[in-house]
Amino acid sequence: MQNNVIDKKEGADLKISCDKESTAGAVSQRACVFCGSRVVLYPIADALHLVHGPIGCAVYTWDIRGALSSGPELHRLSFSTDLQEKDVIFGGEKKLAAALDELIDRHNPKAAFVYSTCIVGIIGDDLDAVCRKVEKEKGIPVIPVKSEGFKGNKREGYRAACNAMFRLVGTGDTSGIPEKSINILGDFNLAGEIWMIREMYERIGVHIVANITGDGRVEHIKRAHGASLNVVQCSGATMGLADMMKKEYGIPAIRVSYFGIEDMAESIYAVAEHFKDDEMMRKAREVVKEELSIIYPKIQEYRKALSGKKAAIYVGGAFKAFSLVKAFRLLGMDVVMVGSQTGTASEYRELQEITDPGTIIVDDSNPLELSSFLQEKNVDIFVGGVKERPIAYKLGVAFCDHNHERKEALAGFIGMLNFAKEVYSSVMSPVWRFMPKVEGKSND
Ligand code: SF4
Repeated sequence: MQNNVIDKKEGADLKISCDKESTAGAVSQRACVFCGSRVVLYPIADALHLVHGPIGCAVYTWDIRGALSSGPELHRLSFSTDLQEKDVIFGGEKKLAAALDELIDRHNPKAAFVYSTCIVGIIGDDLDAVCRKVEKEKGIPVIPVKSEGFKGNKREGYRAACNAMFRLVGTGDTSGIPEKSINILGDFNLAGEIWMIREMYERIGVHIVANITGDGRVEHIKRAHGASLNVVQCSGATMGLADMMKKEYGIPAIRVSYFGIEDMAESIYAVAEHFKDDEMMRKAREVVKEELSIIYPKIQEYRKALSGKKAAIYVGGAFKAFSLVKAFRLLGMDVVMVGSQTGTASEYRELQEITDPGTIIVDDSNPLELSSFLQEKNVDIFVGGVKERPIAYKLGVAFCDHNHERKEALAGFIGMLNFAKEVYSSVMSPVWRFMPKVEGKSND
């Protein structure tokens, strides 16, 4: 077992050990600090992303995300300094400077992010000095990302990414930005989701200054301090940047989620409410009504088939789990287990509030623990990411990918319909007749 505490939510006060490091040597579903920062910065499509470290770190995070770009696609290339034994002994600074020199000349990026990995933290290469020098020579921002893999968990990586982006914010021209303007933070444009979200906000009359980071552009992030409001999804990843922007530029932030009907509608209403604009609110109501009239009847059909089925959730941040609990409820399904890699005590308390008695709530789990929970609760579908998929399939349980690798849009109103369709197709698939569930001990 890891150092997480599992709460079975029998009505007692939630006591959960979370927001701390995994036990050293334990197998965890979590990713490292470097991976956390790479995930957040990856969708900035016109930047160069150079991983300073052994080739394995770059391969681990190479183009595994479904973040789409409407223009340049430099983000999809994975560059690495490929540190070898000799570099570890004599230092990798020269190799890094040479790599930056060659790559910037060849690809002409708008900025470069240089990621620090475990070994760089150990040998002590001076990333700041190299980046400063190259920045001066090339005339573009060259930003070190302090993401040594061992120095914490994925959440620490989010912080490193936010610190790196904050160096860009405030360096661009903000002229011409209207008052009713926002930045969209924490959507990574998987399967084109940010294009749908942008369209919703544009329909109610809001101007978008920067997407941070889905379909992101360096020039937009540079002028993001000109927006009146930061709208933050997946608060674990980019709330740090919103906090820094509030402190430095006085820009308020609201937390939203684009998953599920309720939360998507609330995301639009919350922006209209913030601007205290009656006309904007009227348009928001119209948008929600229009979208619901398209998807609701179809969702009801899926609900008929899925009612009473059991679902388990294990995702990166707890905030997404809130939306998924509500989305399953809309489909008439029971959530019997819910957990995350990086949730905080207050987020778990909120999860306790919205789930039914007996629900297993778990932080920082591992494959064996998750397998035993799925068996104990006899679930019909497991929602997670790339590391959870094999756990479900080995147990003969249906699976829905709700992480960054997916190619299906699950955000927005149409995303809820896609989600219902995917859950239905997976749970009802005839394949489970040939691959029956691996039986476990049930406490139900
Ligand atoms: S940074 Fe460290 S933990 Fe992360 S992938 Fe590289 S070696 Fe592994």
